[in-house]
Amino acid sequence: MSDLEAHLSEIRGKVSAAAAGRDDVRLIAVSKTFPAADIKTAFDAGQRSFGESRFQEAESKVAELPGGIEWHFIGRVQRNKVRKILPLFPYIHAVDSMKLAVYMNGVAKGLELVPKIFLQVNQAGEESKGGFSEEELCENADELSGLENVEIVGLMAIPPAGETRGWFQKLKEFREVLRNDSSLELPFLSMGMSGDYEIAIEEGATHVRIGSAIFGKREFKTEGELGP
Ligand SMILES: *Cc1c(COP(=O)(O)O)cnc(C)c1O
Repeated sequence: MSDLEAHLSEIRGKVSAAAAGRDDVRLIAVSKTFPAADIKTAFDAGQRSFGESRFQEAESKVAELPGGIEWHFIGRVQRNKVRKILPLFPYIHAVDSMKLAVYMNGVAKGLELVPKIFLQVNQAGEESKGGFSEEELCENADELSGLENVEIVGLMAIPPAGETRGWFQKLKEFREVLRNDSSLELPFLSMGMSGDYEIAIEEGATHVRIGSAIFGKREFKTEGELGP
């Protein structure tokens, strides 16, 4: 067994232990900066959901890998890439502004697609990260739920480094506020990475985005990478 297969199997065990019987927890293997061959190794070991954050890099990997992969776009979305991203990625995790949501809805309509999207919340108002403020989301919830060509499936956040449990709890609580305030259902919470995914799952994450704990240390930071 390769290191990658061993790590994947270990992480899967920890994910399912943290899920404690819940069956809605999805492990997204974040393969950015790693070659298609590594993705294929994980795929052959049964992994089906993969996350990429930079379109240029992802495009060629998607093309050479099996069609059975469920691709998640987890990076910051550049407006001029939306038309190319949507046909390849059924899930978009970091929709971070009204402008982008409305624009994506229009492009999806033209392409006859209905991508599943997460709304990114910038919980601590960090300038280095994108995302809606909670107020902005409350103000725009009706307009968002009226967009017919995007399916808003949940909230996503990358909390400040350090003690993340409180931020995860806060995201879940904010989801309740938004649900009560609007017709958004938001069944999913995309939160938790290599360092804190078990905590995130305990606090209600449905999608954990795990890169380095599976594939190893990344040599380079990618252009589309969010967070510290
Ligand atoms: C890179 C990245 C991850 C994975 O980070 P790790 O610490 O390697 O698990 C998760 N989410 C986003 C948005 C990322 O850009």
